[in-house]
Amino acid sequence: MNNININITNFIHKIIDKDLSTCKCINVHTRFPPEPNGYLHIGHAKSIYLNFNIAKNYLGKCNLRFDDTNPDKEDVKYINAIQEDIKWLGFNWSGNVKYSSDYFNNIYQYAIELIKKNLAYVDQSSPDVIKKYRGTLNKSGKNSPYRSNTIKKNLELFNKMRLGEFEEGKACLRAKIDMSSPFIIMRDPILYRIKFIDHHKLGNKWCIYPMYDFAHCVSDALEGITHSLCTLEFQDNRQLYNWILNNISINYYPKQYEFSRLNLTYTVMSKRKLNQLITKNKVKSWDDPRIPTISGLRRKGYTASSIREFCKRIGVTKQDNIIQIEVLESCIRNDLNKNAPRAMAVLNPVKLIIENMPINKQILTMYNHPNKTNMGTRQVPFSRELYIDRNDFYEKANQQCKGLVLGKEVRLRNAYIIKANRIDKDLNGNITTIYCTYDINTLNTNPIDGRKIKGVIHWVSLLYGLKAEFRLYDHLFTIPNPSIEKNYLEIINPNSLVIKNGVVEPSLITAKSGKSYQFEREGYFCADIYDHTSKKLVFNRTVGLKNNLVKINI
Ligand code: ATP
Ligand code: MG
Repeated sequence: MNNININITNFIHKIIDKDLSTCKCINVHTRFPPEPNGYLHIGHAKSIYLNFNIAKNYLGKCNLRFDDTNPDKEDVKYINAIQEDIKWLGFNWSGNVKYSSDYFNNIYQYAIELIKKNLAYVDQSSPDVIKKYRGTLNKSGKNSPYRSNTIKKNLELFNKMRLGEFEEGKACLRAKIDMSSPFIIMRDPILYRIKFIDHHKLGNKWCIYPMYDFAHCVSDALEGITHSLCTLEFQDNRQLYNWILNNISINYYPKQYEFSRLNLTYTVMSKRKLNQLITKNKVKSWDDPRIPTISGLRRKGYTASSIREFCKRIGVTKQDNIIQIEVLESCIRNDLNKNAPRAMAVLNPVKLIIENMPINKQILTMYNHPNKTNMGTRQVPFSRELYIDRNDFYEKANQQCKGLVLGKEVRLRNAYIIKANRIDKDLNGNITTIYCTYDINTLNTNPIDGRKIKGVIHWVSLLYGLKAEFRLYDHLFTIPNPSIEKNYLEIINPNSLVIKNGVVEPSLITAKSGKSYQFEREGYFCADIYDHTSKKLVFNRTVGLKNNLVKINI
């Protein structure tokens, strides 16, 4: 077994290196344990990248295990979507997909073992009383009156629980640990609760379900996991993880290590909150491009390699932090800048007529990528009547304007220099037509008389261009850290989606769903995977051209 051979390392790699060199473990075995109660988000991608890459780089294994212990929130549609997303991200799990429910029989037997060792008891107190007796950080808890029941009685009651003879909430199995432990999690935590809900795999076989803490450590041990990696909020749960494994006859001790969760600015990450956004109609679905799910990012035009690059850049630490969304955006921008073909699209069209152009059409050949001639060329019709973007035209010059100014010249991208001579307006004062002349000797060359022309604008032939819908996405929230706001549903950016109807050059008739382009001077766009067809072109804006990154906050 080789030590890790990657240039970016983290504290978990160091632990593994040490465990291997001291023979504490021989083969590295990790797992990714999603709860199938929602789609995966970019936070999960951080965990996936960490766990699957450890397996890859140490020639070990990584399991995919669904933590399916809470049947009322879980659904097969999530199980399928999660597998798809992991594969799309470029990772493969070892062997079959695993489920915590594969081990329900084992976990049940371990529960009986704990009862027999007088380390677990059935508590018939109400959930409120259990909560009240648990105490607080400053106040020690109180023993339940059921804590002193005999082993025999507990076995009997637990069997009754399993047979469905108690109603939900009327009994639960608790570990007998220490009601005054400084770790609240150790104050007789619940191991099993009653739920009369069908399980997605096991139907109504069980009406009692193990809690996450009980199922998780047992599943890790049964699968031979060596390094069980989870996020920092489970730090205290490690006490219970170890207590359970030390008190059941399992003889295998995986170790749990915690790292910090990924948080991103201008978005929320938890599946519960994402679910709320969908059910309250703030966004359309789990793959809405405005939420940071893997499927939302994919639909927006993110590539798997850009998400992996992001995970590599942010690294893994124990420091709680919030990463600027611009870090993620810069990863996709770099990728598409290298790989996306260029094309022209006008989002806010205004008509422009080149009055001295003799012919109606001329075919211009353009490179698909300015630095990669191997990406080929395409033919773009240039005509007497064009569309340019309304925002690129100015009646009066000012310092900022980079476009076409009345009475001045500008270059049309990959074409000629034009001069704006006059305009028509409608009754409301909106410009309807810009009349220009062009300099016929300037096709992709500078004027012979040496005059300097500032500015280049993009265009689409009026006659040959195709109508297209552009979906412009912006941050979903108006503030950088919506996660800490109770009223996060009320601080949604009203312009998180703006739809524009414009035109694109005719070569885009062949744009396939999911294909990305750089629309010159506008940004990176991707043909929508659902709504785009050759009859109705629909492009999602993935990211703009400029990097607004202020500082990387890792
Ligand atoms: P959520 O709050 O979004 O539901 P979770 O932790 O409950 O998250 P799980 O499906 O239980 O989600 O998580 C599967 C794995 O992904 C766990 O190991 C968890 O620690 C990890 N994970 C979840 N969210 C993040 C995140 N934001 N950053 C890093 N890892 C995460
Ligand atoms: Mg969870």
